[in-house]
Amino acid sequence: MKLTVYGCRGSVPYARSECSRYGGNTSCMRIEAGGHQLIVDAGSGLMQLQAEWREIYPSYPGELPFPVDILLSHLHMDHIIGLTAFEPVLKPGVDVRLFTASTPMFGAYKPPYWPVSLDVISRARIVTVNAGVPFNPGGSLTVTPFAANHPDNAVAFHITDGEKVVVYLLDSETSTMTEAAYGALVSLCKNADAVIFDAAYDEADYPAKRGWGHSTVKDGVRLADACHCKRMIFSHFDQEYGDDRLDAMYQRISGLGGGKRFLFARDGMEVTI
Ligand SMILES: [Zn+2]
Ligand SMILES: [Zn+2]
Repeated sequence: MKLTVYGCRGSVPYARSECSRYGGNTSCMRIEAGGHQLIVDAGSGLMQLQAEWREIYPSYPGELPFPVDILLSHLHMDHIIGLTAFEPVLKPGVDVRLFTASTPMFGAYKPPYWPVSLDVISRARIVTVNAGVPFNPGGSLTVTPFAANHPDNAVAFHITDGEKVVVYLLDSETSTMTEAAYGALVSLCKNADAVIFDAAYDEADYPAKRGWGHSTVKDGVRLADACHCKRMIFSHFDQEYGDDRLDAMYQRISGLGGGKRFLFARDGMEVTI
């Protein structure tokens, strides 16, 4: 199983020199496993993936040797903004599926908020998914969405190819969950090969943002200790945190678990799971 990070930021894409090492794109990752590939969330990082495909496939966006499958955790702008300029969604003849637990899709992309209605010009097929109901998008993959502690019907994803398990858990606030809900989350993440975890805020900033639906590095370490996942990859960092701030946040946990158990995502990072 291979994970590639194309966007590790939360909320707002923010390109600036202080973010040059971690990157400034919002959530977008790709998981390749079980003879299939999935894009998870379509933040501004999707532009980087598009640039990569344009280079690899001269006929892009046509004649891709695989279906374009995108899992959307929810429809907040930072998770769908990449769709506005993602050519496979806009060109006829390309097989694109958007898996979402939220409807209607593209509500934010209509005049006067966006000049063209994406629900009119989009060629993508919308596939509605439901929390707790597994589905097979292709190959040997099984994806199970489950409710995230975040506004607007957000879901997380448990993804397995039959051998490895990765849990995509961005946009979820674990410290305010009920004991029962947290226990269920620990069970879902139990012994996972990797958990991708929301570390939007530094501890010091969290109290002012409590209830916004995001977590901290400390919350992640707590979950990792409870579920015994082999690896935890933190992402969805606040756009205001520059490289030095993220380095300092990572420094505090880098020694835990022999230095390999915890990773901070950065745009362009590849991880073999
Ligand atoms: Zn987000
Ligand atoms: Zn959100």
